[in-house]
Amino acid sequence: MSQAASIPDEAIHQAASLLLSATHVMALTGAGISVESGIPPFRGPGGLWTKYGEPPMNGYERFLADPQKAWQERLSPSGPTKEMWSRLEVAEPNPGHQALVELENMGVLRSMISQNVDNLHRRAGQRQLIEIHGNYTLIRCIECTTRFPASEVPLHTLPPECPRCHGILKSDTVAFGEPIPQDVLEQCYSQTQLCDCMLVAGTSATVYPAAAFPLAVREKGGQLIEVNLYESELSPLSSLSLRGPSAEVLPRLVDKVKELRV
Ligand SMILES: [Zn+2]
Repeated sequence: MSQAASIPDEAIHQAASLLLSATHVMALTGAGISVESGIPPFRGPGGLWTKYGEPPMNGYERFLADPQKAWQERLSPSGPTKEMWSRLEVAEPNPGHQALVELENMGVLRSMISQNVDNLHRRAGQRQLIEIHGNYTLIRCIECTTRFPASEVPLHTLPPECPRCHGILKSDTVAFGEPIPQDVLEQCYSQTQLCDCMLVAGTSATVYPAAAFPLAVREKGGQLIEVNLYESELSPLSSLSLRGPSAEVLPRLVDKVKELRV
């Protein structure tokens, strides 16, 4: 029996009821939701940093110090970056991503904050999506925050320059030490203010600022539903903790929501 199959139907039922009785459901997702699409997490068993060691924690400072070199490294990746790119190229959304799209299409899920940069929520069809750590398929101007598809950015001179404001272009993926872009942060805060039930899937939500959002929901009396393989710091604060892979738990939850709505 898989881990998710051991979750009692009653717990799934309770979670589905919470989703249906809330007025503004949000989701917060992290690396755990993409593991079953073949994207390795950074930390923990099988994690890229576990294998290669932690990367320097001052990536943004290094970028600003020498953007040309940072771009050259991006264009000829090595080590963990190379491994991640090769996985990203072949990854497909999994049933966990699809379940969240279904919840949105049903009008149950209002918006989502994802810490993933892998573009899989977007490819699955998620619309109200806030990518707090950016999206690896996009390039962003560090001055005016305009974003461009990576494939459309000419790279004959490095670093490339923003066609709107001549600022330096950088990967949209938020580097270590880089502030979360203001437009993204504002969406996160305004959505979280409305939220009275947050479905936290595939993340232990310990990395700030993402970690602040479930705490804010809890502090104002909202409900947290955790879907995670492991116990986390959020578990004691959650109304329900569903222990299992999100690719199995979320589709069960969606089926239950459909059943209860009839
Ligand atoms: Zn610009």
